[in-house]
Amino acid sequence: MDSTASVPQGVIPVQLLKGQKALVTGANSGIGKATAIGLGRAGADVVVNYVAGRDAAEEVVEEITSFGVRAAAYEADVSQEDQVTAMTDRMVQEFGTIDILVANAGLQRDARFTEMTLEQWQKVLDVNLTGQFLCAREAAKEFRRRGVVPEVSSSAGKIICMSSVHQLIPWSGHVNYASSKGGVQMMMATLAQELAPYKIRVNAVAPGAIRTPINRSAWETPEAREDLLRLIPYKRIGDPQDISHAVVALASDLMDYVVGTTLYVDGGMTLFPGFATGG
Ligand code: NAP
Repeated sequence: MDSTASVPQGVIPVQLLKGQKALVTGANSGIGKATAIGLGRAGADVVVNYVAGRDAAEEVVEEITSFGVRAAAYEADVSQEDQVTAMTDRMVQEFGTIDILVANAGLQRDARFTEMTLEQWQKVLDVNLTGQFLCAREAAKEFRRRGVVPEVSSSAGKIICMSSVHQLIPWSGHVNYASSKGGVQMMMATLAQELAPYKIRVNAVAPGAIRTPINRSAWETPEAREDLLRLIPYKRIGDPQDISHAVVALASDLMDYVVGTTLYVDGGMTLFPGFATGG
């Protein structure tokens, strides 16, 4: 049993994020795309970051503007400091400020440990961890400069780090990826502690198996799907919208007292499903 038809549709209250400005990195594909669209549907103006694939980013912008909010596509490699500062400076100039950062951009470069090159290790750490550090740092500077604007939000800003169940679950053949997400978990918690006194909320969303290009091999064939579903007690592969809904909720004032938390959105993957029938 696996039906994305059972993903709740259209449940985002339209004005939940009205007047807020959101930056989503890696928003021309998969989870970032669905999240950018979800934030726009909830009333936020959205900057759609991409590194390649301008056309795909422009399509996302078009869909978001159809909700009557503003959107724009900005190119930047999140692992490059000068490109990140240029992107956030431009957003402040063109959109006025940043209220929500979704540090989503990420990639995999898989290899067995003894065959993994330093380049594969470094690339994943650079994008998945350093990229989030750079984007969070620039967003936090802007949040502190502006402070709380009560008509817009109870907090001065929200940072949502896209983590993974692999911040918790070790993953053979993916030591670079699992290490980067373990790093994201501790970076998120430390930033949450440091920035909470400035009314900045830092949290993470940790997806399980979501049907996107990053993990195509895990869901593309019936055999792979069957293997994967064994790891998911809820017995469906996740849809990018599942993550979008979680991010919109976490970014909203409904979650104003939620600080330093990881929200697992994984159909129960982190519940040790191997123990369901004994152990
Ligand atoms: P995806 O469809 O491959 O999307 C990844 C996005 O990151 C793409 O838009 C990609 O842009 C962008 N990106 C890569 N390197 C970048 C860079 N240096 N600067 C800016 N953007 C960059 O995969 P996804 O599944 O949506 O992944 C999104 C996030 O969710 C990642 O952090 C991933 O680790 C996390 N996640 C995914 C799953 C899952 O099951 N799918 C599970 C847990 C966590 P280009 O396409 O232009 O390269």
